[in-house]
This record gives sequence, structure tokens and C-alpha cells, in this order.
Amino acid sequence: MAADLDFTTALHFARALKTIKGFPWDEDTINATAADLVKWCKGGFISGRPWTPEEQAGAIVDEARESWEEWLGSSQLKRLFLEKFAPAPELKPPASSAELVQRGLLAPPCIHCEPGAEFCEFGGARQHQRAAAEIAARPPAPVPNRRAAAPVDLDAIVRDGERLYREEQERKARQLQEHGL
Ligand SMILES: [Zn+2]
Repeated sequence: MAADLDFTTALHFARALKTIKGFPWDEDTINATAADLVKWCKGGFISGRPWTPEEQAGAIVDEARESWEEWLGSSQLKRLFLEKFAPAPELKPPASSAELVQRGLLAPPCIHCEPGAEFCEFGGARQHQRAAAEIAARPPAPVPNRRAAAPVDLDAIVRDGERLYREEQERKARQLQEHGL
């Protein structure tokens, strides 16, 4: 890490802000702004290149002078600094499931599940084991025995058909009689 921005240099940058309309010219403001620059500008390797504290201070002061129609205040100068130099949040690779298990964020893989199962449908090894034991203890469900059903009796079907036909004929005959035909 580079040495801090020295205060004299910081004062030089702070005074340059006087070119912005509305920047207070009093020494208190200039000193406070110089102190801000010392505090913020610590140098570092940012956006693919090394920056000294002087370069950082110069960059934000120049940018403010070139883009601000009037002085927007210390908070906006700080924001300008952060926009340019705040370290980008480090992108962590996604945690492995082993790490998640270790941190208690994921149930350990179920030893009773098929290898490679994404999750245990019983909610974990213990419940899975209990459920498996319950299933094993259940009496076998009765399997419908198709062979026990009566064999198809073609004669009976024919007899039924004949009977239905006869009944229908008799019903029609009765109806005709009732209507006196
Ligand atoms: Zn399981």
C-alpha cells in the first residue's frame, strides 16, 4: 500500500475545487476537504491498474471540476470517489454442497437415497430410514387375484342376450296391448 496522500498535496487539490461555482473559499472548508481526500485516497490496484493516492485525489477533483456546474458538497465528492474507486464486491464461487452441509445450510446427503439423488424425499437419512422400516413392516397389500374371477362363459352371455331380447319383446307387446292396438 502506498504512503498516505500528504496534507500539503491534499490542500493543493482541495484549493483547485475553488474553480467550481459555489465551493466555499474559507480555510475551514479547504482544510476539511483536504482531510477528506487524505482519508479516502489510499491508493491500490483498481480496475486493472495501480493508483497512487495522488492520482486518485487528482482524478476525482478533476472530474468534479470538469462535470459539476456547481459545488455539490462533500457527500457527492465522496460518491464520485466511490464510483471510481470503490472495490468491486468480490465474486465468490458458489459454495459447494459439502460447504453448505458444513455450514448447516443443507441437510447432509441421505445415505438411503439413490446415489446422486438431488434431495431426500423423506427429508433426510433418519426419516428416510424410518419410512423405509414402516413400509417394510406393512402387511403386503392384497393383490387382486384375476384368476379367481369367473371364466368367461360364452353360453351364459348368449343366454342373457336372448333373455333380454325376449323381455324387450314382451314389454313391447304389453305396451301395444295397453294402448288397445
Ligand atoms: Zn433419503
